[in-house]
Amino acid sequence: MQEKALTDFISSGALHKGRMLSEDEIALLKGEGVTFAVEGYITVGGNDVVLRVGVDDLFPQSLPKVYLNDPDMLGFIPHVGPGGSICYADTEGIILNTEYPVSLLNDAVTCAAQVLEEGITGTNRVDFMDEFMVYWGRLSPSKLILSFVRPEERVRRVYAYYDSDGNCSWIAADDSSVCSFFNYDLSPMKSLTQRSAIYIPLEKAAPITPPEPDKQWTIDEVRGIVKSNVSDQNLREMQRLCKKAKIEELVVLGLPRSSGEFTLVGLLFHQVTGGHPLIGGTAKDPPEPVLILRCDPQYLWPRGGGDVNLSTVNVMVVGCGSVGGHIALALARTGIGKLTLVDYDKMELENIFRHILGRDGLGAFKTKALKAQIERKYPFVEVSTCEQDIRQIVNCELTKLNMFDLVLFATGNPTTELHFNKLLHGMEKGPLALFSWVEPYGIGGHAFLTRPGTSGCLQCLYEPADDRQAALHSRVCFAEPGRSFGKDDLGCGSRYTPYSGLDAERTAGMTVRLALDGLNGREQGNPLISWKGSKDSLEAAGFETSYRYGQSLDQMHDRRYEYVRSDCPVCGDSIR
Ligand SMILES: [Zn+2]
Ligand SMILES: [Zn+2]
Repeated sequence: MQEKALTDFISSGALHKGRMLSEDEIALLKGEGVTFAVEGYITVGGNDVVLRVGVDDLFPQSLPKVYLNDPDMLGFIPHVGPGGSICYADTEGIILNTEYPVSLLNDAVTCAAQVLEEGITGTNRVDFMDEFMVYWGRLSPSKLILSFVRPEERVRRVYAYYDSDGNCSWIAADDSSVCSFFNYDLSPMKSLTQRSAIYIPLEKAAPITPPEPDKQWTIDEVRGIVKSNVSDQNLREMQRLCKKAKIEELVVLGLPRSSGEFTLVGLLFHQVTGGHPLIGGTAKDPPEPVLILRCDPQYLWPRGGGDVNLSTVNVMVVGCGSVGGHIALALARTGIGKLTLVDYDKMELENIFRHILGRDGLGAFKTKALKAQIERKYPFVEVSTCEQDIRQIVNCELTKLNMFDLVLFATGNPTTELHFNKLLHGMEKGPLALFSWVEPYGIGGHAFLTRPGTSGCLQCLYEPADDRQAALHSRVCFAEPGRSFGKDDLGCGSRYTPYSGLDAERTAGMTVRLALDGLNGREQGNPLISWKGSKDSLEAAGFETSYRYGQSLDQMHDRRYEYVRSDCPVCGDSIR
């Protein structure tokens, strides 16, 4: 199959004087797994360039590999790796049409030729900056440092944290940025000593040619690069910060990428004497290249779709059951900086399949087990817990409602939630309130956002069940009102509402999206959002659906604000 494709490719004439390579010649190619390859030449920018095109066993499910036969013949240009391999395609998002292997080979050569052409003319020089880490990695740095420094455009002092063996593991602008990565747990820092280092951002304008493989930058080269690529102001600040020097000095360079982001690389100067090597001192030459991995929120959050602007947002989740548990974990992935979890329940065996904790934390408070799981998984979020009944502790310090930007209820207890709806709507400047609940038998779930002091509140979603007014029922639920869906396994007090972990997760996902929309202002009103599942299980269990269930999702969306009752005892006209 592969051989046939390559023979056809030779016949297509894409390479001049194309010929199959022998097994011995293939063995000399530094391409991993190449089983068949051809050689021939193309003309690029007036040069005859000999290319080798190889395929591996997976071809045509893998891309062909293209090599420059003489890696140095076009000089040091972007996207040509050691051994001459040409990176001609961004594999992310490419879907290969495996029906046409010869076309794949032809395309590969065309793209590779273009990469070389741009290299010769210099039009892709900026790619050096975007792929700087790749080139830095080719210097085989033996040290890796995690960086919590937020790269900015000014020179600044940063701190390097050394362990007792003299290895630097982190750099940060201050302790607190390290703390936030470890969820404000100080213990990882205790055994480390701090030494100062310097961060130097280079200017956006000039692309800097990365060091060639096996050719580390010398001290003179580093000085030259810094001097010609920093602003006067940054140069002065650098000179000020470099007045004193230690025996070992770490310099972190910020290299601007075309996206506006920075790549960080480190240079470790050993045996420093006579002042800082950047301003006249000497050191062992060349300085040691160090790999720096960015772990700052500005870099990590956007990579996962999180929002760095939420880092100051403070959210309380009341109710950490199946829905609340999924909500808590999901919130921790959004960029929210502070989370307070409130629940007095402990994790029980019966919950394991629908609670996100699963077997984790059996017998422990759900709040504490969730905090532990969040901190094990995600950085930058500070989690507090409270193991008391929200109705009893609302006046204590931790749960003073106006400390929060959003209070999210997933208690499964409408009576409690209506109480808080009233409390929040009575506050001068109350936080956003969000109520989330799941219905039985997988028929759906709801999230309801309300802004205290505006019309449209949780109370509006209820009406008296009958003339006696003792009980309320929901106007918006999907299951017929007035029925109890609790299942009783073991007798009194062990009733549970039948819904699955998937239902809980779906409701939680919808709720967290609404929370974000409310917090970042995309949602300005008080909407009721629902998802709708199949009614089969509900009906099989002998229940019926409500009028609202009969609406289409589009209808529900159009009417998401149309539940407001002007006679609402909490938010109605008479109150305002
Ligand atoms: Zn590349
Ligand atoms: Zn109301």
